[in-house]
Amino acid sequence: MSELTQLTLAEARDGLKARKFSSAEITRAYIAAIEAARPLNAFILETPEKALEMAAASDARLAKGDGGPLEGVPLGIKDLYCTRDVQTTAASRILTGFVPPYESTVTSHLWRDGAVMLGKLNLDEFAMGSANETSAFGPVISPWRVAGSDVKLVPGGSSGGSAAAVAAHLCAAATATDTGGSIRQPAAFTGTVGIKPTYGRCSRWGIVAFASSLDQAGPIARTIEDAALMLQSMAGHDPMDTTCADLPVPDYRAAAGRGVKGLKIGIPEEYRVDGMSGEILALWNRTADYLKDAGAEVVPVSLPHTRYALPAYYIVAPAECSSNLARYDGVRYGLRVPGKDIIDMYEKTRAAGFGREVRRRILIGTYVLSAGYYDAYYERARKVRTLIKRDFEDVYASGVHAVLTPATPTAAFPVGESARQTDPVEMYLNDVFTVTVNMAGLPGLSVPGGFDSRGLPLGMQLIGRPFDEETLFAAGQVIENAVGRVRYPEKWW
Ligand code: GLN
Repeated sequence: MSELTQLTLAEARDGLKARKFSSAEITRAYIAAIEAARPLNAFILETPEKALEMAAASDARLAKGDGGPLEGVPLGIKDLYCTRDVQTTAASRILTGFVPPYESTVTSHLWRDGAVMLGKLNLDEFAMGSANETSAFGPVISPWRVAGSDVKLVPGGSSGGSAAAVAAHLCAAATATDTGGSIRQPAAFTGTVGIKPTYGRCSRWGIVAFASSLDQAGPIARTIEDAALMLQSMAGHDPMDTTCADLPVPDYRAAAGRGVKGLKIGIPEEYRVDGMSGEILALWNRTADYLKDAGAEVVPVSLPHTRYALPAYYIVAPAECSSNLARYDGVRYGLRVPGKDIIDMYEKTRAAGFGREVRRRILIGTYVLSAGYYDAYYERARKVRTLIKRDFEDVYASGVHAVLTPATPTAAFPVGESARQTDPVEMYLNDVFTVTVNMAGLPGLSVPGGFDSRGLPLGMQLIGRPFDEETLFAAGQVIENAVGRVRYPEKWW
């Protein structure tokens, strides 16, 4: 592994500015690492030529003493973000051959700030999944393994390619998206940092839609500082997305250094769910102690509607997905399978283009939105969503600044594990700690909290007040300082 790929994003950025190495050099180092890591299947498309072209342009700017805040830094892009003139698949066969004529707002912010694109990262099909096993391009393999074992582990999902690539040092940082945990859960499984900002902090324009009222963009990175630098660039108002907030973007990197003195951190009782491992429980207590030692006050809080969040999410998200995915009809984008008439063409295209999990979600969504069941399912789920949001509002109104929970109920599990393959609900249970945050539209950050007895990373989650990502970075930095920087696995692939 090249030295240059070992640098954090912040270190790379500073080294580039000081002209210790060029963007072409660090980009070539990452291209070599990506080529050597094909067994992990983290990338759907590698774009080395584009990367070297962008790196040359960055070097020219740096030579003149110009350059943006991410000038010359190589990144990976989740293949849910439309990239102009570069194939975008959402990991689905139905988008075969789709080359967007436009750039997503978030990626255009990154290029504006000088970043270099290494390629498009693998994910669960249309971001539906928790293990990156539903991709039409095959599963992503985590760089992590249990010591002495060659069992392949999942990197989490849906942003599995992003998390695996960051942990395996195939990019300095990556974009990701989170509808029900897809940034935080893979970050937790791979010992990386992931933040889902407040709904509306980043523009959704040009990101392939899954469930529009829940989807948010965010970064996966190796450190809190790197995540802060990434979000700084990704965030910001965009008139192309009416749900994108017209608010200034604070200085997140500065916020990360604020500490937690005087902050009140809530510990919700309801997150002590059945089946959670003792190790995670112990880690949760230890993390609360880190925050206490740094001057925070830790208080018990109650979020009484937590247990309804998962079932409500698995109604709201499929409902929105069934309506968003109606556009893939063989006429406007990607794949078309000819039929004897237009209806036959639609049916054949959709049957061939969508994988099993996506079809399941479309069927559930269509069912819960159908005339006879709309009130019984969708309306009720919407009401539950309001109650979940109110739970958090009450906690924050009592003076709590952020809530601390585990990010996932377990560490990473093996690829192809049968129970999760045959029973989709088993897989959905992974999202039990993360979906509440999307349902309430709040910011959530996952930071490495430590390791289980087998040496696999575990993540802790911080949930904040609306548009207060700053407190999450501040508390996340305290945790990162206490835990120490993660040592990523040695290359075995
Ligand atoms: N695992 C969740 C799901 O399958 C969340 C996915 C996501 O956040 N995109 O819906």
